[in-house]
Amino acid sequence: MTGIDSVAVIGGGIAGAATAIALTKAGIAATIYESRSVGTESTGTMLTLG
Ligand SMILES: Cc1cc2nc3c(=O)[nH]c(=O)nc-3n(C[C@H](O)[C@H](O)[C@H](O)COP(=O)(O)OP(=O)(O)OC[C@H]3O[C@@H](n4cnc5c(N)ncnc54)[C@H](O)[C@@H]3O)c2cc1C
Repeated sequence: MTGIDSVAVIGGGIAGAATAIALTKAGIAATIYESRSVGTESTGTMLTLG
């Protein structure tokens, strides 16, 4: 038990998405906050994790 039950992840790029997946698998709720709409620029938001 970590004592943490939810985490806010800032940024929905590959690092943020991977972090949210890892947290969820560890039983910690993760909410991603992304400032841009998906696909508006050519960075990690164009990448996806299955
Ligand atoms: C043109 C281009 C092409 C690339 N092509 C490849 C490729 O073919 N293969 C490859 O492996 N890598 C490629 N890269 C590199 C790859 O995109 C990066 O290494 C990777 O995206 C980094 O992931 P990241 O999650 O750290 O950052 P990012 O992908 O930049 O994600 C960070 C996210 O956080 C959001 N954010 C920032 N500040 C805030 C805030 N205050 N509140 C809310 N949201 C916020 C941003 O909008 C962004 O969506 C390319 C990069 C560029 C620019």
